[in-house]
Amino acid sequence: MNYDVVIGLEVHAELKTNTKCFCSCKNESGNEPNTNCCPVCVGLPGALPVLNKFAVEQTIRAGLALGFEINKTAIFERKNYFYPDLSKAYQISQLVKPICINGSLRVGEKDIPINRIHLEEDAGKLVHANDGSTLVDYNRGGVPLIELVTEALQEPHIETADEAIEFLEKLRQVYIYAGVADCLIEKGQMRADVNVSLKPKGSKEFGTKVEMKNIMGFKSVHRAIQYEIERQRDILDDGGKIEQETRKWDDDKGISFTLRTKENSQDYRYFPDPDLLAVEIDDSIIENVKNTMPMLPQELKNKYMQEYGLSEYDADVLLQFKHVSDFYNDCLSGYNQPKTVCNWLTTEIMARIKTETGAGPILISKQNLIWLMKNVDDKKINRLSAKEVLSQIWGTDLNAEEEAKRQNLIIDIDTSALDGIVKQVVENNANVVSQFKETGDSKILNFLVGQVMKETRGKANAGDVMAKIKDIVNS
Ligand SMILES: [Zn+2]
Repeated sequence: MNYDVVIGLEVHAELKTNTKCFCSCKNESGNEPNTNCCPVCVGLPGALPVLNKFAVEQTIRAGLALGFEINKTAIFERKNYFYPDLSKAYQISQLVKPICINGSLRVGEKDIPINRIHLEEDAGKLVHANDGSTLVDYNRGGVPLIELVTEALQEPHIETADEAIEFLEKLRQVYIYAGVADCLIEKGQMRADVNVSLKPKGSKEFGTKVEMKNIMGFKSVHRAIQYEIERQRDILDDGGKIEQETRKWDDDKGISFTLRTKENSQDYRYFPDPDLLAVEIDDSIIENVKNTMPMLPQELKNKYMQEYGLSEYDADVLLQFKHVSDFYNDCLSGYNQPKTVCNWLTTEIMARIKTETGAGPILISKQNLIWLMKNVDDKKINRLSAKEVLSQIWGTDLNAEEEAKRQNLIIDIDTSALDGIVKQVVENNANVVSQFKETGDSKILNFLVGQVMKETRGKANAGDVMAKIKDIVNS
């Protein structure tokens, strides 16, 4: 039987703020366990939370970047449950009136509707030690977290694992460019819950949802979704029924297993937090966030394509990593040649920074790269030599110009000397030259250019040399 697949996503991202959501403890990872804690974030009796205004602004920023409406009044509720990483036995979250409602994100040709973004606090972390004991670190407890929920029961929705990943990657890009979150996946700063259901093709009625919680890494999300689609398809094909449940994805084994079923699902007993007033968000706050919004990926993409004439492919390569597009914009302010700079970045620089999971830092200064690009364009240094210099100064504090001079790579041969060398090479390679006359084979021409470059020790411009050889041969 054929089925429609319906995929819903709930995405958590840790906000970039200096302090936690309801106290003045630092929002920082990598510290000694249980050092960024206070009576408020561990929930000692009598301690009172104070809302971090900047966390609210960051949530609004995330919302505006995705075209959300901002609620004029937002409410914080307590979500009650017990778990060792949550010392208060409740999490401050938002249920009835979140800060952002009704946004969307474009995936392929679809605008995927997003129900909400709400602000909540993160829980601490359990650390399972080798001796079988479990330790708890509350440093992360109280860190501001935004949760985004897609509207899976509406059209259009996410239908494949590939679309889910595209959604997550685009979302991550928007958050990073907007400056609301760093979204370092390996540090757990962005985590996704996924729900999957199948329905007979064309049916208006949605199937039973199965949820998978806290999957780390987009590759795992992809695998987990595909596994779940197959699992449900097999059950339905055999005439079985899908049970509403939460499953846990085991990435090592490549399978998921039941965590809890609907019968024992939790009732969180949400109620408004009596210690926190409703948040009034007036227009001036929203205006202020709008006015300080950095350029978002789509805006930059339009600029790159329309103003700079880049191809969509090149624009996407530059925008894939924010530090690369920042560097690109920086270089243009010193050398306004959008296509040249793009070519260098998308080939030479990307080749040096790309890793399996992302991209490392750019280990050359803007000034040095501009010097190389400009002098290649001005025919003062050959492209090949420039690439060599780039390799040599990469990751060092060497200067491109000094290095090029030290290695005698600056093109400074005078015309008559070059003419002489070209003539000599043509004469010495009479057989090859006649072969070229017959076939016009570009490989032969390149060989001759190579011979001249060797004689000049790379101090002539390869383009000039080629033109000169052609002149002689054709005369
Ligand atoms: Zn605290």
